[in-house]
Amino acid sequence: MTGRSTGGAPLTVGVDVGGTNIRASVVDADGEVLDTVAAPTPHSAKALDAALVRTVRELCQRHDIAAVGLAVAGFVDADRARVRFAPHLPWKDAPVARTLTAKLDLPVVLEHDANAAAWAEYRFGAAAGGHNAVLIAIGTGIGAALLVDGELYRGTHGIAPELGHLQMVPDGRPCPCGKRGCWERYCSGTALADTAIELLATDPVSSTVLAREVVREPGSLTGRRVAAAAQDGDPLAVRVLADFARWLGLGLAFVSDIFDPDLVVVAGGVSTSAPLFLDEAREHYARSVTGAGHRPLARIRTTQLGEAAGMIGAAELARAALVTAAG
Ligand SMILES: [Zn+2]
Repeated sequence: MTGRSTGGAPLTVGVDVGGTNIRASVVDADGEVLDTVAAPTPHSAKALDAALVRTVRELCQRHDIAAVGLAVAGFVDADRARVRFAPHLPWKDAPVARTLTAKLDLPVVLEHDANAAAWAEYRFGAAAGGHNAVLIAIGTGIGAALLVDGELYRGTHGIAPELGHLQMVPDGRPCPCGKRGCWERYCSGTALADTAIELLATDPVSSTVLAREVVREPGSLTGRRVAAAAQDGDPLAVRVLADFARWLGLGLAFVSDIFDPDLVVVAGGVSTSAPLFLDEAREHYARSVTGAGHRPLARIRTTQLGEAAGMIGAAELARAALVTAAG
């Protein structure tokens, strides 16, 4: 129906393959989302393949699609054809690109979801013009991606940088990765709840609204709730956000010491609360980075494309692969 975008560049589909939902969008060469469909993520690999085929075919009925990109929350191999392991998806060492290409009769490329989001921000969003950029997606944990000289840095084995698992606190909070004291244990949505509980344990007389909720039902506390309480000025929640800002600034100083980026994009669910922590995080970062006061600092921005970044980036990478194949 829509055919091609203005300028004749092909339309591609970007799919965000998340643990709960699959979201697929038709994206044009300017990064505009033209059409989106969503479906729940099935629990078996076969059913997941079938759901992806159904979802993409639905979009193909309405648009002339030239290629498909998948943003996957997991480890993708170096040639971006196979999903090695994805903790919240049923694929295990699965040749996803080959399987879907055969069923859809379209080129399919895979990308780690943080890489796809970083690529979208670089091409169309908050990282535009930042040739050495770091994307930090803060949600349940921390997802990260690096752009070096305008290219995604995928490492030797295709494993995106696991900055969230830099060990910041020896013998600190236990992490699902098996280590302790990882950055994301102190700087994530999960960490907001954990810090609230920890602070209350050391200051049990505190009687704020949030403190009473934690005492009543500690297991049900979420990062979103802590952020909302901080927005309302709850003293415990405000302290939690200050602690979060400190860890974010310290972590970004680590990252800058290693990569010296010109730009950091803070994305993920927690970034929607950026007014509560970002200025303070910038101050901690500026104080903690090596050579503080005597060097240029990375600009720190929040995402422009939000939750759509993964889909848009995957679609754009699929388009770039078409151009490479044609050239
Ligand atoms: Zn970890």
